Amino acid sequence: MGYARLDLIYIVSKIAEAAIRSAAGLSYSLDDMPQSVKEAAAAIVATVSEQIAVEDDRILRCRICGKGPFTRKGLYLHVRRVHLDTIYDMVRRELETYLWRTKNI
Ligand SMILES: [Zn+2]
Repeated sequence: MGYARLDLIYIVSKIAEAAIRSAAGLSYSLDDMPQSVKEAAAAIVATVSEQIAVEDDRILRCRICGKGPFTRKGLYLHVRRVHLDTIYDMVRRELETYLWRTKNI
């Protein structure tokens, strides 16, 4: 599976967006992902979104810096504004692990 650098940047940004939306409990879609990475994308969204938010007693907080409480939209905006680079790094790391694993089976 060879991916051009630009494709990877696109894929990482799409997965990051979906993960942040998922963490905030907002709807998201992976429909426009390349078929070959759709399955990995869904798994990465689940893994990364778990690390973004924590919900206790229906109170939503940022898991990365502890800020909150947030509304769903508020959490989404906070994470995008403050932690986007961190999320990109998480997604990139997960994706590299996945691509490496696929290549070496
Ligand atoms: Zn935060």
